[in-house]
Amino acid sequence: MTEKNPTASLVSTGEEVLRGEIFDANNHHLANTLGEHGFDIQLMMTAGDRHEDLQFVMDTALQRADYLFMSGGLGPTEDDLTSTVAGELAGRDLIFDERSWEAIVALFHKYKLEPGDNNRKQAMLPKGAKVLANSNGTAPGFSLTFKRHGAQKTIVALPGPPRELQPMLANWLTDHGFKAVPQEEHLFLRFLGIGESSLAETLEPWCKEWGEVSFRQTFPEMEVKLYQPTLDKRVSLCQFATQHLGQFLTTYTRQSVPDLFTEFMQTNGKTLALAESCTGGLAAKIVTDTPHSSDYFLGGVVSYTNTIKTQLLDVSASDLEQDGAITPATAKQMATGARNRFKADLALSFTGIAGPDGGTRENPVGTVWMGWADADGCRTKRLNLLQERDRIRTAAVYHGLRWLMEDWLQKRYAQQLQVWSTG
Ligand code: ATP
Ligand code: MG
Repeated sequence: MTEKNPTASLVSTGEEVLRGEIFDANNHHLANTLGEHGFDIQLMMTAGDRHEDLQFVMDTALQRADYLFMSGGLGPTEDDLTSTVAGELAGRDLIFDERSWEAIVALFHKYKLEPGDNNRKQAMLPKGAKVLANSNGTAPGFSLTFKRHGAQKTIVALPGPPRELQPMLANWLTDHGFKAVPQEEHLFLRFLGIGESSLAETLEPWCKEWGEVSFRQTFPEMEVKLYQPTLDKRVSLCQFATQHLGQFLTTYTRQSVPDLFTEFMQTNGKTLALAESCTGGLAAKIVTDTPHSSDYFLGGVVSYTNTIKTQLLDVSASDLEQDGAITPATAKQMATGARNRFKADLALSFTGIAGPDGGTRENPVGTVWMGWADADGCRTKRLNLLQERDRIRTAAVYHGLRWLMEDWLQKRYAQQLQVWSTG
């Protein structure tokens, strides 16, 4: 990119945001949406309803960016100060704006109400401001362009309620010709079984080669994003990830493990059954959360007790008595039992300790044995998950699904790299 991206700073206002009583949905939405539209976000700040604080953060924001996107403080009360401070920073008086007054009156009339005197304050805007229509509330927004800190600056002031702010921002972006960068222009990679710090440690020494890499956790997966890479950089990062992080890599796209799994099962045309102990039905839930799971998923058994493991899945009662349920033999018999009972092509089983109690020296909390039965027999795999109950169960399911797809995923990486390398 030769042309410099526009820069933006974000300021939200309001005591309830400052005190952490409500989540700052506006700065979050603004950062995300503006980032997608090609803005570089410089600063993100919050001020309460004090005049001097608002002036300080707004002026600091303007020092550092071409645009200042404000949220809140446009209402009719004394503590709504956005227009006042914007006018002071721009050196413009506030004047009564007929157009925005008409819009306020029209909105009140729509609900068979009359605006009060204090609503006239909402129509007081800095001279030269352009009114931004608000179709969901009374406070109109405005944009104001002026010179400050030796450059042209624009304040875009939007109301506090997110359902008012969001469509107004979208309209402003469209009216000013800012288009979202299509998601396909970025590179996304997903990993399972590796945390952010280990991932960053492996990737960061090489990041200069690729450009800015960002990390996002969507538990139990990690997503890595490379912003608008060239084809060379895209291929280089994917090759690196396959070589050095292959055991954790799931995909070069944004697809989650369950989404990939549905695609995998639809491609191979096989049927699946589940046998679950510690996951308590979560595997069946996750599999059926994705549409079209009925194409391949036959059903499952939640065999929480040993009796049910024996009665419904033909697990050997004496094995259970002798060695307990957290063994590769139990995982194997559960998977084989489910495959036979359901007449499925594939069966996957989980037996383990999700905690918080029940761990032993050989089988600490987080130990999960998985079994995978198919026409070739049954194999098992042990997981050592280091989390609390909920997370152990979710991670176990994701690991199980990924395990069944392993060969298919390898082929998928190779095919995608081939397409990029030749295209
Ligand atoms: P109003 O006319 O509703 O007073 P306003 O522009 O003056 O609009 P504020 O008074 O600052 O906005 O906020 C109004 C309401 O909008 C808040 O009570 C809160 O529910 C919501 N809100 C404000 N700022 C945020 C924010 N940053 N994130 C999420 N919600 C917000
Ligand atoms: Mg208000």
